[in-house]
Amino acid sequence: MRFRLPRPYTILITRTGETPIAIDLRPLPLILMGLFLAAVPVVWVAQLVGHNGKLAAENENLTETANEVLLELETLDSEVEDLRERAGLPENNSSALPPADSPQGGVAGTADAESLFELAKSRMPQIDTKLEAQVRPALESTLAEEAAQAAALPNAKPISGKLEVTSEFGLRRNPFGGSRFEMHNGIDFRGPTGTPIYATADGIVVKAERSGGYGKHVIIDHGYTYETLYAHLSEISLQAGDRVKRGDLVGALGSTGRSSGPHLHYEVHRNGQPVNPRYYLDLEDTLAPQN
Ligand SMILES: [Zn+2]
Repeated sequence: MRFRLPRPYTILITRTGETPIAIDLRPLPLILMGLFLAAVPVVWVAQLVGHNGKLAAENENLTETANEVLLELETLDSEVEDLRERAGLPENNSSALPPADSPQGGVAGTADAESLFELAKSRMPQIDTKLEAQVRPALESTLAEEAAQAAALPNAKPISGKLEVTSEFGLRRNPFGGSRFEMHNGIDFRGPTGTPIYATADGIVVKAERSGGYGKHVIIDHGYTYETLYAHLSEISLQAGDRVKRGDLVGALGSTGRSSGPHLHYEVHRNGQPVNPRYYLDLEDTLAPQN
């Protein structure tokens, strides 16, 4: 008669009042012991294994510690899985323990401290490899991407200090007289000529010139579909092609082009369409608009 290897089976690690965790194993001695001691609480096992009360207590402590280590590992593993998900990697359950509510078969028994520690030791490198070889590189590029995206969001103030809004985004009466309405594609901030104007996000200057109604103006492409425009400047401090960081000097406030007085006309474009800069700016401490 041929000796047949035992089939893989599941051990349940139970702690009073806590959800049991299950581990697939096939160590023969454990199976035999498990068959014999099936359903016997950990304490009883410890008492059987130990030669006296002290040993039994120690063994019980060890078993408990081993259980805790395994639970910690399980938590760590699921955290690594979360990171993996955030990094956009496909789900991988190959090394994960089956969820407690998944169908489980085999003989349920209790495991001794030594086996549990062995199991913990074998699981550590698995988790470590997963983290180092797969999750970390992907996560780093995800974080870099998230940082670049955050840096492209035009959420800084174009003028430092308290901002005085003189005209909001949207339909408004023609500021040069008449009863006709016009679409105002940005927000106007009043200030003294020469006031420094700053880039509201990282990007590349795509236009820095004097032309049309905008007068001296600068357009910055921030990537991720965002562009900003700074118009009616008295001076331009950048030229096309320059790389800028959020807060870099763009120029100075002025009244060039179609302007009724010194102010900054500031626009935010998303996918080529002007959007209300207030979506991105925290303008809580601005003075109320006058129109
Ligand atoms: Zn304007």
